[in-house]
Amino acid sequence: MILYYICTYASLIASVFFILALRGLSSAKTSINGNRFGVAGMILAILGAQISMYFPGLDVNLTPTIIKIVIVAVLGGIVGYIVAKKVNMTALPQLLAGFHSLVGLAAVFISLASFFCIYGIPSVNHDNMRALEMVLGAAIGAITFTGSVVAFGKLQGIISGKPWRFKGQRQINIILGACLMALIIAFVIKQTPDLLIKVVILSLIIGYMLIMPIGGADMPVVISMLNSYSGWAAAGIGFSASNRLLVIVGALVGTSGAILSHIMCKGMNRSLLKVIFGSFASKGEVAETHEEQINRNVKLCSPEDAGFILKNASSVIIVPGYGMAVAQAQHVIKELADRLKSADISVKYAIHPVAGRMPGHMNVLLAEANIPYEDVFELDDINHEFGMTDVAVVIGANDITNPAAKNDPNSPIYGMPVLDVEKAKTVLFIKRSLGSGYAGIENQLFYRENTMMVLGDAKKVCDAVLKALSD
Ligand code: NDP
Repeated sequence: MILYYICTYASLIASVFFILALRGLSSAKTSINGNRFGVAGMILAILGAQISMYFPGLDVNLTPTIIKIVIVAVLGGIVGYIVAKKVNMTALPQLLAGFHSLVGLAAVFISLASFFCIYGIPSVNHDNMRALEMVLGAAIGAITFTGSVVAFGKLQGIISGKPWRFKGQRQINIILGACLMALIIAFVIKQTPDLLIKVVILSLIIGYMLIMPIGGADMPVVISMLNSYSGWAAAGIGFSASNRLLVIVGALVGTSGAILSHIMCKGMNRSLLKVIFGSFASKGEVAETHEEQINRNVKLCSPEDAGFILKNASSVIIVPGYGMAVAQAQHVIKELADRLKSADISVKYAIHPVAGRMPGHMNVLLAEANIPYEDVFELDDINHEFGMTDVAVVIGANDITNPAAKNDPNSPIYGMPVLDVEKAKTVLFIKRSLGSGYAGIENQLFYRENTMMVLGDAKKVCDAVLKALSD
């Protein structure tokens, strides 16, 4: 009896901790505490699940099974620790995609295990509701698995980031979706092993078909959708395994992922339904060659010139992007901003919702460098200020400033809101070349009258600008 109460309260407290974790993670200031709640919740959940195996009434000796689980959990924890310690900040999105694929795979295995009994004989007489939960867990898990593997490949550069398109693709996707529905219904009615296997195989194919056509600047929404799918898959297996905590946590991840996707879709001006059904894709515009680019009129400027321009400004907006993360330039940017502020120059930071390679990427890096939160503004809150600003300093950002999103209907990023940096009196672009960003399209801003390109690694250039400011 006492064990029952311990488990019930452990899972209840763990659920509350997970809710507090999500609450904490909603702001950079509270995120560390949020993370701690998450870790504490997970420890409680694991302990509760282990203890629950000792419930009275079970006449099987479960100790060997529990020992195996502990060994596997410890090994998994060690691998997770090493991976988390080793991974670069710039590789976090692919790490997330990799983890989502594992959640999807686990959902498939647990659903199959709940259906086939331990000795390989299908356990019969599941009621229809239970069969539906099981098959949904397996289907969503399988879609999440292959979808996440493709997303991992695209983000890691193993698979081409270009959208994979062919004639009749949408129709094929619709037919596959209809077949999956039919198989799911058939399984719920008949509950035969071959139908469950067919559902899993078809779902694996659908996961691949859904994510392959997506490319260019639309990957951020895909990552957060896969996050949501992995939550629903976990909730589904929670039902199959009669584990309330898994249902709660899965639903939390599923809904928070869906809300995040909705927010990101709004930020990118995309439709959530189109993302779910994988029907949006870029038209694969090809960037110009380097030779074509340098033949055009580009104003190059040295870090010393940039320092001079900044010294003479009264207002500056810094726009960080993926290149800032690559160069780890956030600390020197803080020093640069402090130097400008000490000369009574107003300095603000403009953050685009999909800057970098994961949601909140720039906020995390700026917070790491102790940049005050009150200096950091979201796109909607700062975009109108560029017209009244002397200098916009774009550091390692590209797509999020590209005006093609506003004026070229053929561009893959058309419709995505961008930061109106070109409205500032002078735009300083700090990047290594005239190359394109993640979406693979050229940025006309590099050739504008009021743009100066300061070519080089973001950290090295900012160091040199800082030195120029001090001289
Ligand atoms: P971009 O990818 O558009 O551009 C980054 C720029 O940084 C590149 O053009 C590159 O130019 C430059 N760069 C790279 N390394 C360095 C360096 N060491 N020093 C200086 N510059 C460097 O990034 P943005 O942040 O502008 O936009 C994000 C893009 O990523 C969007 O298309 C978004 O959709 C996509 N994305 C976002 C995700 C998210 O969740 N936030 C997830 C997945 C994709 P050069 O090589 O010339 O230096």
